[in-house]
Amino acid sequence: MQTNELREKYLAFFETKGHTRVASDVLVPTWDPSVLFTPAGMNQFKDHFLGKVKLEYTRATTCQKCMRTGDIDNVGRTPRHHTFFEMLGNFSFGDYFKDEAIHWAWEFLTDKKWLGLPAETLSVTVYKDDQEAADIWHEKIGLPTSRISFEKEDENFWPASAPSQGPDGVCGPCSEIYYTAPGREALEIWNLVFTQFNRVGDPPDNLRPLPSKNIDTGMGLERTAAALQNVETNFHIDILMPIVKAAAEVCGVEYKYDSENGRRIRRITDHVRACTFAVHENVYPGANKEKYVVKRLLRRAVLDGHQMGLRDPFLSKIVPAVVDAMGGPYPELKETVERVAGVIEKEEANFFSTIDGGLNRIDLVFDEMRKDNRTTVDGHVAADLYQTYGVPPELFESLAAEHNLAFDWKGYHEAMDEHGVRSGTDQKIVMGSKGPIDSLKKVHHKTEFLGYEITEAEATVVGIVAGKPGSDQLCDKMEEVGHEDPVRVVLDKTPFYGESGGQVGDVGKLVGKGFEFEVIDTQKDGELFIHLGHLKSGVMSEGDTVTATVDTSRRAAIQRAHSATHLLHHALHKHLGDHAQQQGSKVDADWLRFDFTNLSPVEPEKLAAIAEDVAADVATAAPVKWETLPLADARKQGAMMLFGEKYPDPVRMVSMGPLSAGTNSRELCGGTHLTNTSEVGAFEIISEEGVSSGTRRIVALTGQRAEEQATKTVAELEQAAKLLEVDGSQVAEAVGLLLNEQRSLKKLLSSGGQPSDETTTLAAKSAAKLSYQQAKLVLAEAGRLLSVAPLAVVQRVESLVSEVESIKKQLAERDATGPLSADKLLESAKDVTGTTVVIAETPGAPQNLMRQLIDTLRAKCDSVAVMLAAREGDDKVTLIAGISKDLQDKGVSAGKWISPVAKALGGGGGGRPDMAQAGGKKPEELPAALEVAEKTITEMLGA
Ligand code: ATP
Ligand code: MG
Repeated sequence: MQTNELREKYLAFFETKGHTRVASDVLVPTWDPSVLFTPAGMNQFKDHFLGKVKLEYTRATTCQKCMRTGDIDNVGRTPRHHTFFEMLGNFSFGDYFKDEAIHWAWEFLTDKKWLGLPAETLSVTVYKDDQEAADIWHEKIGLPTSRISFEKEDENFWPASAPSQGPDGVCGPCSEIYYTAPGREALEIWNLVFTQFNRVGDPPDNLRPLPSKNIDTGMGLERTAAALQNVETNFHIDILMPIVKAAAEVCGVEYKYDSENGRRIRRITDHVRACTFAVHENVYPGANKEKYVVKRLLRRAVLDGHQMGLRDPFLSKIVPAVVDAMGGPYPELKETVERVAGVIEKEEANFFSTIDGGLNRIDLVFDEMRKDNRTTVDGHVAADLYQTYGVPPELFESLAAEHNLAFDWKGYHEAMDEHGVRSGTDQKIVMGSKGPIDSLKKVHHKTEFLGYEITEAEATVVGIVAGKPGSDQLCDKMEEVGHEDPVRVVLDKTPFYGESGGQVGDVGKLVGKGFEFEVIDTQKDGELFIHLGHLKSGVMSEGDTVTATVDTSRRAAIQRAHSATHLLHHALHKHLGDHAQQQGSKVDADWLRFDFTNLSPVEPEKLAAIAEDVAADVATAAPVKWETLPLADARKQGAMMLFGEKYPDPVRMVSMGPLSAGTNSRELCGGTHLTNTSEVGAFEIISEEGVSSGTRRIVALTGQRAEEQATKTVAELEQAAKLLEVDGSQVAEAVGLLLNEQRSLKKLLSSGGQPSDETTTLAAKSAAKLSYQQAKLVLAEAGRLLSVAPLAVVQRVESLVSEVESIKKQLAERDATGPLSADKLLESAKDVTGTTVVIAETPGAPQNLMRQLIDTLRAKCDSVAVMLAAREGDDKVTLIAGISKDLQDKGVSAGKWISPVAKALGGGGGGRPDMAQAGGKKPEELPAALEVAEKTITEMLGA
């Protein structure tokens, strides 16, 4: 039986038993912080099992895309483990229990109409205390006791070892079904979990029967297909063998099952398949969490290729084979095959560029360890290798294991913590229900949201939660005005939008009889809306009626930004292509941030065209509409759908159009929107930058804030023009000239040369005021020249102008005293007991010039002591002192001379006896300091 047929049969079988067929959850369930990837079919039903959601059905069946990072090391080595695999499952939420679960499993496996596996190939395990399950298997199914074995809690309990070790909460025994082909090892294909207990505290008597019992089962699709197709490993089933073959071909090796290369090819097969699904769902290789897992899988596969002699990217070439093999049940993979291959190729290329260096280092590490008789790889070394060569520590660990060496994870994590980086950790299903909000969920399930139509409504307070996080609790009354931590209020219905889909939560107030509550934020927890805020007056009690009023001007600004986000997304697709999918977004009051897929920066011209398109769409005044419709219909109408995003069915679709180009924007979106695109008003892109490999970010403003930005830009340009004494349109040009002037003046100062009289001035232009668009371009260009943001141009020009002025002043001072020369300095020299003493300020002289002058003076005079000083800007003085050889012989030292002088300037320094240099911070003290210099040298010369 083909794998695709098996998948369909399973779901169809359980439909005949009254189950609702539910779609697979996404690979990365962002709503569930306890896991990185979906590890099992039951994960999407956690809230169903806990009674936290209103049940629309009590029996469900799924085929779930799963990823288990804990099995990475098994892949290729055991015949039955993958990282990515599909799990078939049937679930009962307080409906049927053990008897039906076992009967149906048996029927599906053995009945000729379904799988028709011979009964004698099957055996089961049950939990040691679960006589009930053993009896069903033996007495009702007729399985001989020789094929029923009892296992302990570490094997046959969920969560493993829960009775003795916890955690507290829902748990239960399980029963595993094994298939044994002639001559092969028994293979676990299906696990039936009977959640029938609530664990409370330590044994004994800590397992309390649950009033409402659940069933959760998981059958491995690939394993069962391997049993049906009678192959020795999952990797040889119909949907995996073509990928194995493609991998062997791309790698240029012959595939043999029992060989090192065979294991490598299977690992590559698994990892490319896993990464294809992950990248397809927009999980790109990266440094953290699930992104890190993808990176690690790809690098592991690259290493396998490297060990088979490959030196260039090859994994991406296997992607089309994965899409072919998996495209039947997952046709959406075909839409992203190029993007996925591109992302994978980039990551491979990155690793290939450093892998040789990394492997050489690793060999050295192993050599050193052998020499020193050490058997554990230093975690700090591994952290260093990860940072410089991108060698994932897990990879290092497995290479070490091949040499029988251990790996110091503690040291590794310490070192990474020092670098402020955390790597991905493993996952466990955690199922708990704690906290007052969870208790509220069990009773109220959901808050009705009214905010699409209205922004003010009457509602009833159904829960008040107060206290510090962790020790917060349900209160039936709130009377403390002026409390610090925000209180959380749950209403039966609300016009307040709860933060979700990138859109921030509403603010406003709840007013009841004799009290007022200020809402500072609204969040969602499952389907409950939580109003966070502070009681301003009176006493609020559970059961009170309130008038809930949203701050409508803020809401309007948020809606402008949200509708503009859809227009931006639409324009990005038009200009960059369909790969420019949304990766994340934040929509705030007249401010939006939009992350999207694109491997390289968006060129300025394209960015301008994108902004123009959005403006044109706004000018078109297209209607904005929304409706709730079946997911399939929305897809048919071309609604933009994000892979890796879970959509409800039916779904809410927001449409805008026809837009300026005659096309429509259609997005699945739960946010609140304008009714016409014209309401967006002004739209301004303020930045475009990279956030991570393959992801770009645009920040933009709408409405009032965009207008403010425009006003600021025009004002900034005007001010810059005034400073530069040119017309607005000449600002960028003038900035260029100013920069040139600064550069040449600086050069002049350091070379001691003369400034020329030649200056470039800009021809006066008609002083026509620039439009905002023109101003923006000029300012952007000026900002680029100055390497600052457009709105920081004035500040930078100001400091540049003052710098140029100060250099000019220094040059002028220098010129006033004529060109510096040793002879000129000698004119002001004094004779102290036969020694020529020169103490002088040499304005604008660079250090090398000062040294030169000292050397010349020493050559000219027999006995000489020179101290020169030059100011640099307003807060720096350089001092250099030198004395002739005869003075050194008498014990006079330039270093000793200079230090009290430097001190008088608020600085320090010193040096050798013949030549010393120091710096000071108070140029205004220079005259006094030079007097100190004179006094000191006079004393030193014994006068
Ligand atoms: P094993 O002990 O073989 O790793 P498990 O006890 O971890 O299996 P469960 O957590 O009970 O498996 O998952 C339910 C079913 O999912 C298993 O019976 C098996 O058919 C399938 N399965 C689990 N892990 C994997 C995997 N890494 N690759 C493929 N199939 C798997
Ligand atoms: Mg396992």
